[in-house]
Amino acid sequence: MGLLSLGTPLVWDEAKQYADHVRSHGITQFLHIWDRVKDRCGDELLWGDEIEYMVAVFDDQEKNAKLSLRQTEILAKLQAIVNDIVFDRGESDSVPTFHPEYGRFMLESTPGSPYTGELRDLLSVESNMRYRRHLARKYLKPNEIPFTMTSFPRMGVPGVFTEPYYDPVDAVSSHSLFLPEEITNPHARFPTLTANIRRRRGSKVAINLPLFIDTHTPRPQASSAFSWPLLSELNHTPEAKKGAALIDHIYMDAMGFGMGCSCLQITFQACNITEARRLYDALIPVAPLMLALTAASPLYRGYIADVDCRWDVVSASVDDRTEEERGLKQQPLKENRFRIPKSRYASVSLYISEYWMNQPAYNDIDAPYDSAIFERLRKHGVDELLSKHIAHLFIRDPLVIFSESIDQDDTTSNDHFENIQSTNWQTLRFKPPPANSPIGWRVEFRPMEVQMTDFENAAFSVFVVLLSRAILHFNLNLYIPISKVDENMARAQKRDAVHAQKFYFRKDVFPPGPSQPSSVVSSCPSTPVSEHGGPILVNGVNGKEKKLRNCYPLPPKPDDAALPAAVEDEYEEMTMEEIMNGKGASFPGLLNLVYTYLETLDVDEESTRRIEEYLDLIRRRTNGSLRTAASWIRNFVRSHPAYKFDSVVSQEINYDLMVAVDEIERGVRKAPDFLPEHCVRSKQ
Ligand code: ADP
Ligand code: MG
Ligand code: MG
Ligand code: MG
Ligand code: MG
Ligand code: MG
Repeated sequence: MGLLSLGTPLVWDEAKQYADHVRSHGITQFLHIWDRVKDRCGDELLWGDEIEYMVAVFDDQEKNAKLSLRQTEILAKLQAIVNDIVFDRGESDSVPTFHPEYGRFMLESTPGSPYTGELRDLLSVESNMRYRRHLARKYLKPNEIPFTMTSFPRMGVPGVFTEPYYDPVDAVSSHSLFLPEEITNPHARFPTLTANIRRRRGSKVAINLPLFIDTHTPRPQASSAFSWPLLSELNHTPEAKKGAALIDHIYMDAMGFGMGCSCLQITFQACNITEARRLYDALIPVAPLMLALTAASPLYRGYIADVDCRWDVVSASVDDRTEEERGLKQQPLKENRFRIPKSRYASVSLYISEYWMNQPAYNDIDAPYDSAIFERLRKHGVDELLSKHIAHLFIRDPLVIFSESIDQDDTTSNDHFENIQSTNWQTLRFKPPPANSPIGWRVEFRPMEVQMTDFENAAFSVFVVLLSRAILHFNLNLYIPISKVDENMARAQKRDAVHAQKFYFRKDVFPPGPSQPSSVVSSCPSTPVSEHGGPILVNGVNGKEKKLRNCYPLPPKPDDAALPAAVEDEYEEMTMEEIMNGKGASFPGLLNLVYTYLETLDVDEESTRRIEEYLDLIRRRTNGSLRTAASWIRNFVRSHPAYKFDSVVSQEINYDLMVAVDEIERGVRKAPDFLPEHCVRSKQ
């Protein structure tokens, strides 16, 4: 979350009058940033994770696990603790930070300062995550626990699922039948975001997640949601009458169902804008793969879903497009400027790198853009691909505008730019340097579901950062058409996707021509090295590198690069095993590429062992010798003695599940089908 500005938010009818103002000044702000830092070069690798928690409170008498709505008090307490630690230690770098999130039961934490490329930082990720959890845990009430579970299984059930209890009848922002107003962070930004999405859309959001049909799941008697027992709580509501809820689906009707989910995000700083764009593109096809491998959320609103991931839930939960924008009305457009194929929360629609590997044929889906903004950016000297990217983000309206910050100094503020940028929630985010800050060009990797333990969260974070270096080191070409990435996104969320699905992937990931010289060259030799980093290429013994680094050279397109006649010949459907472990002579697999990259580093034995534990978790999740979190949770519910094979996650089952997850996280319960033996380490 960015800074939560204080002020008076405008209701939608007022806010929409400033949409062009915000867009136009947002672009001015971007252009100021562009002028200032487009040639900035030499920033070192800095990176960090974001972990979201949901705080659950246990009622052991009633055997109920509920969401604790004490975010405000908890954050105030954590802030005070953190200040004390800073005061005691006299330095703030190692002290983590906690941030508010959408749900009033949620917390977000990040390391106090980003990790560097130092190898010891790689190994401190897990202890840093554990320290953050330890702090959060220590200062909660005795019966409260911070969980890193992607979805809370019984959010939105009839009855009591929050503490304190609130009746959903008061849900003025979302109009939800299931979630009370108080589920949302009370800061004006969040209720306003909720209400303005609903108002802009012209109706409540509608999320219909396929239900997992078990042997005793009640089936519809007729083709109407009315007749379906699992939707009985909906009978006679206007929504049901209008057909918002689908039979054989879990119906949800509020932003909280999506933005109340937790995830794991990783942000990297790149050497310069070129490397950031290269990395952004390279990770686009990786996003659905990591979504499938981290799948952790099969339960929603008290039911078992037939999907394992949160992605489509969040996507639908913030879908502010009007019927016309969604293509449900007859063309031509009357009220809106665009027909928009995707929600604001969706997979990336455009590759943006200017490197030769990015062929125009890969940008093969409809990605509408604002042509006036595009022209303005082009006239200012921004290249075509980046102009399209920004002009595509800027088809959206700003949703929350504070009356106090309508007029800004565009040379020093980036608020209007961020207003649009940070409400485009895509699998990757390309982050320009903020105004007045030492931070460089960054890329944020956003698809992953948060894992239940910090061993796993560290493993996936470390894997992604190592993969990002392997991509740069070997100059890998992972491009496939964006339409195939989107197909992979759909497949990645299906039940047991890791094993049941195939994914489109590139057959040959190595560029044509001689392989990369291993000698170290900066990609920005002619530019003065920035005071903030600079090529920091220290060769260790045997020519091995001592740190993970940035500033890889980008070799020109080889003259004899024989590009295949057709893009369709470049990719095929592979199993996850093939993608991770290799297929044929030309593709060694992503895990092996990471191993080979590790061989270029000067890593001691103990560190190698630790890193291999992380990679081994991923290998075993891939080959099925360990379950994904989603598979483990699903199996727990279906093997529970109280489960009636009716797709329902009862209060009792949920309570036992949450107890089990907590015990696993604390290392007091074994789950050998889910976690390797060695992953429980002593806590800080
Ligand atoms: P947001 O919510 O906007 O995505 P956060 O501030 O919550 O962002 O988290 C951003 C992450 O980026 C944190 O893990 C932080 O440590 C990390 N980070 C901070 N500065 C840099 C930097 N210069 N380069 C890369 N990552 C950074
Ligand atoms: Mg967050
Ligand atoms: Mg954040
Ligand atoms: Mg955020
Ligand atoms: Mg209501
Ligand atoms: Mg983030």
